[in-house]
Order: sequence, then C-alpha cells, then structure tokens
Amino acid sequence: MYKGGDIMIKIAIIGGTGLYDPRILDNVRDGTVVTPYGEVTYKVGEFSGQAVAFIPRHGSAHSIPPHLINYRANIWALKKLGVTNVIASTAVGSLNPKMGGGDFVLVDQFLDFTKSRVATFYDGGDRGVVHVDVTQPYCSNLRAILLNAAQEIGIPIHASGTYVCTEGPRFETPAEIKAYAKLGGDLVGMTNVPEVVLAREAEMCYVTVSMVTNFAAGISPHPLTHGEVLETMAANTEKIKRLIMAAIAKIDTKEDCACRHALAEYGGFKL
Ligand SMILES: [Zn+2]
Repeated sequence: MYKGGDIMIKIAIIGGTGLYDPRILDNVRDGTVVTPYGEVTYKVGEFSGQAVAFIPRHGSAHSIPPHLINYRANIWALKKLGVTNVIASTAVGSLNPKMGGGDFVLVDQFLDFTKSRVATFYDGGDRGVVHVDVTQPYCSNLRAILLNAAQEIGIPIHASGTYVCTEGPRFETPAEIKAYAKLGGDLVGMTNVPEVVLAREAEMCYVTVSMVTNFAAGISPHPLTHGEVLETMAANTEKIKRLIMAAIAKIDTKEDCACRHALAEYGGFKL
C-alpha cells in the first residue's frame, strides 16, 4: 500500500455526492495518510502524466453525513501528500430560477450557516490563531481553468454563484430558502464550508464544481428526496468527470498562485 511521501501528488479531486470512484484515473492504488485528526484513506492514480489523489468526501459508500465529515483530516492529508490544487465536486439545491437541475456552477462566494463544525486548523495553543482572508475563497486561476475546459468540451456552466452552506443533514425549510435567497444565495449545500476555508488556510488552490440536483424547498413543486439528488447526479456523473479531467489536463503545477501564500502574514501554513 502506498504510504505517501515518496511520489509527488500535486492535484487532488474531492468527490461529492454521486462521485465516489476514481475510475477516471489509470493505475489506481490505495493509500493512507496519518494526520493529527485521524487516518485518511485515499486513492491515487494517473491522468495526463500527473499523479492525482482522490478522496470521496462521504466515504466510498456515502456513509458519512455532512456534519460528521472529517474535513480537517482530509485537507491535512492532501497537504501532507504535497497537493497544491484541489478540485471538489458538490451536489447542490438551487434557489436561483436561472440555475436548474443538471446545471453546473463555478461558485465564487459562500454564506456559512453551519453550526457544529471546526472550521480552522488554528485552535490557539501551539498552532496559535490566524484570521485567513477569504475575499476570494475559491482560486480564481482554477476557476478560469474550469471555465475554459467547460467551454472547450461544450458543457454549459454558470461562471459564478453564491453557495449557502447549511448544517444538514436535513434539507432546508421553505422559510430558510426564502431567507437565503434574500441574502444573495444562489445554491444550497451542506459540505463546502469548512472544506474551502481549510484548503485556504492550508495554502492550496481550491475550487468546487457545483452540480444542481434539484430546486430547493418551496421552489421545487414537490417534497425533496435524496433519491432525486442521486438520480440527477447519476445522469450527469459522466459530464462532471469529463469536465474535471479536461480541467486537470490544463493545470500547470509549476505555476505559483496567490492561494499558496494565504498565510504569508503568519509565516505560512505548517504541517
Ligand atoms: Zn490559487
């Protein structure tokens, strides 16, 4: 089993709901990384001459609910492997009538309504306290790469959007959805915070491709089901895989980015 550290993995995919297997990669092996937050198992394979790591966010059988995902362990593990670029997929409900089922969105902002999650690697003590800047929470270079890739392979994509992160695992009430829409939210999901924030603290370029699986409560004409989410995901999984792989082929891992210096003021992120 690959233990990490002896080959350089610069790119990682975090697969959300509906994206559990890395069959898009060649020569896939299992690996584990020990982190201060627990052990992380991942897959690593090759694509376009690059080693690419893959972590299914909810576990390979969708057994971990959004509020119990070990976000810190996942991001720490990727950082320890040497990953500099993370492409995550997220399944979302839509509050925006222009973003319908099956649509892809490159979110550029988030609103955080989570309640019980630790959203930092800096808990005081030895690690101290940091206040990371999230003016651009999602890497603008990776967003541009994904946008180009989508245009090249003919997949329509919304170039921006605001992701509302809720605690879950329940879906939202129509009153909550109405409030989020008034606040400027376009999409609602349960996993992107703290993942994006931790990636930023770890000074990695991070982007998420959101896939709309349904209209949110009160907008959808019927009660929401997880089955509906899985059905839309299944119908679009091939497209999201094609998009992610087209983007990976365009990443120049030698290029620097502002994201890699997000904690410069604090002397940089240390494992
Ligand atoms: Zn970046």
